[in-house]
Amino acid sequence: KMGNETLKAELGRASWKLFHTIMAQYPETPTKQEQTTLKNYIYLFSQVYPCGECAEHFQKLLAKFPPQVSSRNTASQWACYVHNQVNERLGKEIFDCNNVGEHYKCGCAEDEEGGEK
Ligand code: FAD
Repeated sequence: KMGNETLKAELGRASWKLFHTIMAQYPETPTKQEQTTLKNYIYLFSQVYPCGECAEHFQKLLAKFPPQVSSRNTASQWACYVHNQVNERLGKEIFDCNNVGEHYKCGCAEDEEGGEK
């Protein structure tokens, strides 16, 4: 059986992948409704995240660094920043947020041409 730490790490990697990919697909110029939806999603995510201690830490992080949802770039940079806050607390390497845009592609239909569909 896999240890708790291995499972927690797997969950974390999958969750961050989804989290950052959502930001990368978020509209460049979101409507008020889209901004409200993303903000709600982030807070609800922090409440349903299955690792209790992680959720608790993340909620505190959101209180300190509220979600920035005014544009795709703002949201992506914010998400990169808070993930780095978690990296720092866990003693992990800090990710270069200048590269976050290219890093998260989803193969979705709306992706720019030439990408995997
Ligand atoms: P991860 O941090 O999972 O990152 C996966 C990949 O994302 C990296 O390999 C890199 O390519 C990329 N990446 C790294 N940093 C960034 C960034 N800043 N922006 C964009 N991409 C980046 N674990 C605990 O033990 N305790 C906790 O309290 C805890 N809290 C968490 C809270 C949340 C909300 C989440 C989603 C996860 C949490 N985790 C926690 C899990 C932890 O963050 C890691 O996911 C896990 O330890 C696996 O780490 P990893 O080294 O594989 O890389």
